[in-house]
Amino acid sequence: MSKISMKTPIVEMDGDEMTRILWKLIKDELICPFVELNTEYYDLGLPHRDETDDQVTIDAANAIKKYHVGVKCATITPNAQRVEEYKLKEMWKSPNGTIRAILDGTVFRAPIMTASIQSYVKGWKKPITIARHAYGDIYKATEYRVPGKGKAELLFTGENGESFRQTIYDFECSGVLQGQYNKDSSIDSFAHACFDYALDTKQDLWFATKDTISKQYDQTFKLRFADIFEKEYKEKFAAAGIEYFYTLIDDAVARVIRSEGGFIWACKNYDGDVMSDMVSTAFGSLAMMTSVLVSPDGNFEYEAAHGTITRHYYKYLKGEKTSSNPIATIFAWTGALRKRGELDGNAALSTFADKLEDACMETIESGTMTGDLALLCERGDVKKVNSTDFIAAIRANLEKKL
Ligand code: NAP
Ligand code: MG
Repeated sequence: MSKISMKTPIVEMDGDEMTRILWKLIKDELICPFVELNTEYYDLGLPHRDETDDQVTIDAANAIKKYHVGVKCATITPNAQRVEEYKLKEMWKSPNGTIRAILDGTVFRAPIMTASIQSYVKGWKKPITIARHAYGDIYKATEYRVPGKGKAELLFTGENGESFRQTIYDFECSGVLQGQYNKDSSIDSFAHACFDYALDTKQDLWFATKDTISKQYDQTFKLRFADIFEKEYKEKFAAAGIEYFYTLIDDAVARVIRSEGGFIWACKNYDGDVMSDMVSTAFGSLAMMTSVLVSPDGNFEYEAAHGTITRHYYKYLKGEKTSSNPIATIFAWTGALRKRGELDGNAALSTFADKLEDACMETIESGTMTGDLALLCERGDVKKVNSTDFIAAIRANLEKKL
């Protein structure tokens, strides 16, 4: 069989620890034997980020702007302990934060579902994708404690000197105070990313805020989404047979639980932070969550939602065979390959991505799985295997399909 060729490169970002080991295995066993893999390689492993003063992360983000598709391995976000462990020059920023700031995107997180593992919410039959607005609100808020009696005011001074002033509260005792903001431009790019992703994946889009209480702040989100939908997406949604649905956040939570899944849930920053952990836990395993960053000008960066699985890596270094789950990392690759295929009109590449995903799911359905899944699985015929054997089983299933 001749290998599938690729016209345009994918931006490949290597990472750290156990996921770096899985990364190589996936490429060697599941991709390179079948695809003439064309990538522009950036080593985002912590030692190389340190060597390049983190320039490699910036270069990788700019390369995604050039080629429009990237795939990223999990990376260490350094803290004080990592600075010591890796003898770093500096406590470098989170690579994901750096890439997101350059691409200005929205992150969509979706679970990979398998019939062998039941969601904790019985009714959920299809994935629920969370789209989190990753800018502003309480994450950029200014806050302090109020020491005692006094008046708190909200003051805005325009560039030509005009000002608005409102009393927040006449404090009769001590308390707390917080000021938060968001920008129309950021809300609009969040809305565009959500509407585009809904069209791209042919799923309904839900959005919810607390606009009945927050009559300016949350209302702004509601109105800008509605306006952009009316002007730019209404007809496209109708043609695709999908819907845009707005409701209040508490109503949304109740409806999500009662739903079958199969839609995108757009969340303000804090709601997305909280709800994505709820949704991923309810669906089962963090090792089965994918994540894609979609930017308003059409760039896509795929990755697994989990980290570098440090605990497994230390066992691996001692020579133990670990049962780390490579599925979300494989799906990051298939997401990127399928998108590359779509953008280049390379159907063979997209079909290969579909078949690799099918091979993964069939392997799990046949009862062969990694330890994290075996723990969640209620069937009796489960065979728990290590990562290498799991990937070999996927390869055997893949070869039957090609
Ligand atoms: P983690 O790597 O996600 O792992 C936490 C635990 O979840 C693991 O110890 C393991 O549980 C389980 N787990 C996660 N992924 C798994 C998989 N694929 N297969 C099997 N089990 C899996 O989170 P962490 O230990 O908090 O973070 C480790 C490093 O990752 C940190 O340096 C952090 O900065 C980085 N991080 C990176 C990203 C990213 O690049 N996107 C995201 C999050 C964290 P058991 O040990 O019980 O088996
Ligand atoms: Mg969180």
